[in-house]
Amino acid sequence: MSDDELTLTASSLVAPDSGAHWSQRYAAALMNTFGPPQRVLVRGEGAYVWDADGMRYLDLLGGIAVNSLGHGHPTLTAAVSAQLGTLGHVSNFFASPVQIALAERLIGLAGAPEGSRVFFANSGTEANEALFKMARRTGRPRIIALDGSFHGRTMGALAMTSKLAYREPFEPLPGGVEFVPFGDSAALEAVFADGGGDVAAVVVETIQGEAGVRPLPPGYLALARELTARAGALLAVDEVQTGMGRTGAWFAHHHSYLGGGVVPDVVTLAKGLGGGIPIGALIAYGEHAASLLGRGQHGTTFGGNPVAAAAALATIGVIERDGLLAQVRDVGAGLRGAVVALGHPLVVEVRGEGLLIAIELARPVAAQVAARALDAGFIVNPCTPSVLRLAPPFILTARQAATFTAFLAGLPHDLEPES
Ligand code: PLP
Repeated sequence: MSDDELTLTASSLVAPDSGAHWSQRYAAALMNTFGPPQRVLVRGEGAYVWDADGMRYLDLLGGIAVNSLGHGHPTLTAAVSAQLGTLGHVSNFFASPVQIALAERLIGLAGAPEGSRVFFANSGTEANEALFKMARRTGRPRIIALDGSFHGRTMGALAMTSKLAYREPFEPLPGGVEFVPFGDSAALEAVFADGGGDVAAVVVETIQGEAGVRPLPPGYLALARELTARAGALLAVDEVQTGMGRTGAWFAHHHSYLGGGVVPDVVTLAKGLGGGIPIGALIAYGEHAASLLGRGQHGTTFGGNPVAAAAALATIGVIERDGLLAQVRDVGAGLRGAVVALGHPLVVEVRGEGLLIAIELARPVAAQVAARALDAGFIVNPCTPSVLRLAPPFILTARQAATFTAFLAGLPHDLEPES
């Protein structure tokens, strides 16, 4: 086939056929792990995406906290294209300058100490799988995770994920993981009551994303640091959802009320890291953590892939150049304030940090509200029955955000759960 014919074949696959048509083909060709797609999307630009029927949506979910720069960002597109045209993939028998530069950049952004090292993966679950293996390499049996946690779907990451519906179909999971009540300092202290010499790691999300955007109570992370340090255990912070600027700081645990000053042993990243190109990373802080996985003890074909690394470097570069951390803080605070100011009886709480926002509803009608929002041209996520989650691109403007507030204002006050 000629280049022209190949291009034609590829473009005919994304021809703006009807959504219903594509949904049928989806159902016949894709495994049913996700249920039917809400829409078939064909194009994106900035904070907007378009579906196969030509309808435009304000993307307030950003591919679940991934598309920090929005859609079709010219700098990201150029960086990815240039890298692919120069050197697309090399495997870990070789290194590439972008991979090395990204590792250095992440260590710098993290403020991680001398001796820190990075392991690259392809997703959040894989970054956490590496963390799980590091914890095993301490030689200690117990890994402490929190109720409500979500760390991913592979077996090690799943073992640290608390939701029974995700866990039970796959038991037996790797052992040794214990769950303590979320944010309960006394329960955490009890784990270490006998010194905690058998604890390998405490694993936390600074703000639990999937559980409904629940920040750890102030002081909890510092306590976890104190207890783990005394016991010689690892403190691991999963920043897959909260990291890389999502909360208006490079890492959520850098916010003073969430753990400012706490230096963890491990941080895991993915989602927004590559601005939409799949990449995960684990930062091991200091020599000890960095040496837990020795030569040959972990690996992945794609980890550190040059195109993914170039995407991450470009994403970080644009966030810095365009002052997007400040925009995330400002637009996020403005949006949260505006939703509160509506005084809508259906909204009982608005929480979160930066552009990771939860709108807690008075009744379990989040799915209905999300469906109405979609029909009105807004993508949001009902992450629990009564919580709407927003994780929009960092380039979202206050004016765009205000269109969603206006939509919320028009929601019926008496919306009830469907039977
Ligand atoms: N950890 C956290 C905190 C997450 O929110 C997620 C995904 O939602 C994961 C890990 C898993 O990441 P991925 O879906 O990239 O495997």
